[in-house]
Amino acid sequence: MKIMGNNIDTLIIGSGLSGLTVAHFIQKYQPGTRISILEKSSSPGGAIKSFHQDGFLAEWGAHGFLDNVEASTELLADTGLDKEAQKAPLDDFVRYVCLNGRLNLIPQNPKKIIQSNLVSLPAKLRVLADLWKRPLPEEQTVADWAAYRFGASLLPFVDAVLTGTYAGDFNRLSIDAVFPGIRKIELDNGSLIRGLMQKRKAAKAKKQETSTRKLPAMISFPQGMGRLPEALVADKNLVYSTEVTSIHKYAEGWEVKTPENSYQAKSLVLALSVNQALALLSNAEGLTAEDCPVSSIPEARIATIALGFTKSADIPFGFGYLAPEQEKRFALGALFSTHMFPGRAPAGHMLLEALVGGRRHPEKLELPDDVLIRETYADLKQLIHLPDPPVFSKVLRPKHGIPQLEIGYPKLLAWRNSLVNNNQGLYVCGFGWEGIGINDMTKSAKKVAESIAAGKTGAVETEVKGVYF
Ligand SMILES: Cc1cc2nc3c(=O)[nH]c(=O)nc-3n(C[C@H](O)[C@H](O)[C@H](O)COP(=O)(O)OP(=O)(O)OC[C@H]3O[C@@H](n4cnc5c(N)ncnc54)[C@H](O)[C@@H]3O)c2cc1C
Repeated sequence: MKIMGNNIDTLIIGSGLSGLTVAHFIQKYQPGTRISILEKSSSPGGAIKSFHQDGFLAEWGAHGFLDNVEASTELLADTGLDKEAQKAPLDDFVRYVCLNGRLNLIPQNPKKIIQSNLVSLPAKLRVLADLWKRPLPEEQTVADWAAYRFGASLLPFVDAVLTGTYAGDFNRLSIDAVFPGIRKIELDNGSLIRGLMQKRKAAKAKKQETSTRKLPAMISFPQGMGRLPEALVADKNLVYSTEVTSIHKYAEGWEVKTPENSYQAKSLVLALSVNQALALLSNAEGLTAEDCPVSSIPEARIATIALGFTKSADIPFGFGYLAPEQEKRFALGALFSTHMFPGRAPAGHMLLEALVGGRRHPEKLELPDDVLIRETYADLKQLIHLPDPPVFSKVLRPKHGIPQLEIGYPKLLAWRNSLVNNNQGLYVCGFGWEGIGINDMTKSAKKVAESIAAGKTGAVETEVKGVYF
């Protein structure tokens, strides 16, 4: 076994968005620093990858991200991607929820949901009980928490949100892990509504927020989301098709081994999804670590069914729709891709991307492609005017699952924090550690880069997340 690169300052495992972002910001803060990235697959980007065929453009993974997080917008500006970006503003694009077998427009924020006629008057009054409901300090599922604070009537909407983000089951996801920001507001103020009102008042007093506040926009690129890792790879020292199999901490730094080589560095960044990181950490040598509370966490896998239609299809304008579990539909929802980002289908055509499977229905992923296409079309046809069958169809089965931050997850995060506090030069970020979205990844990765550049060690202070909707 050869010892490679013992002049490496920082060694990053994983060239998904997290690893590439850590490298980008270290290079920005400390030009000339020696960084190497080891990647087990033959291309960068991890869960982000675009699919092109016959003039259609679909996504294996992420479809976009909101432009309301500084780390992401800085990344775009630094790489010049801001000039290429396609934007779909939330102010213009509506979303739909499937209720009682039909699509209903969802108002763009929780306040407007309450004002709308989607919720009955008694249910609206029950929501106000939040003002008097004593917060329960123990960890709860999202469903139990929402039912306790707001009553059962809002559950389909909450379910739809968690289906759209985690492909998850809100009866298992932990409110403390999934929405720590919301939970903190509730616990600090004794009520979520009161806390949000106070926050808004304080922001207005500081003139941070005006009555004409705009909602953020969804961002992607004309070539698809794959453009993001492609642009970030420039000027990086990346070794592909190299799987790290072991980690060893020694007095001066870190050594990692692949089947072919061994690499040494002062700092080591694991920019991996939770389960990939846990697999490596479980047999790492020389670590000062307490017992990890779990060996792995559940992941939700989905298939994307891309369907292209001619102009006979009458797809309502907007981002797409989501179907809560109670609707018992085949697809979890669908993105109206060509409305959101024009140019994803040949002239005169439209593209829908339906999502199937998720935490609750892994059995659907066992179905062959032709059945998935047939059942998805039959499902969508009941909700959207699609008189003619699709002229294009493709089933994408991403190998990446979405990490599920279910009950017990906060203990794992606390373990991760104590691990990095006790092992100088170790940094752990990536898919599922501080959330699951692209903006969560760029925020955490930027903080890791700031710490490395500043020579700081220990857990990166995590920010309490804002309330997204
Ligand atoms: C189906 C799906 C849809 C999504 N949709 C959205 C969306 O619409 N919006 C949004 O904001 N987010 C979305 N996401 C989440 C988003 O894609 C992730 O937040 C992000 O891509 C995670 O990046 P990462 O670098 O942390 O992890 P990963 O992308 O998992 O990258 C980790 C990398 O490490 C490599 N690796 C693993 N183990 C080793 C090893 N031992 N040695 C060397 N290399 C290794 C892997 O090959 C991989 O390239 C979606 C995710 C999925 C799966």
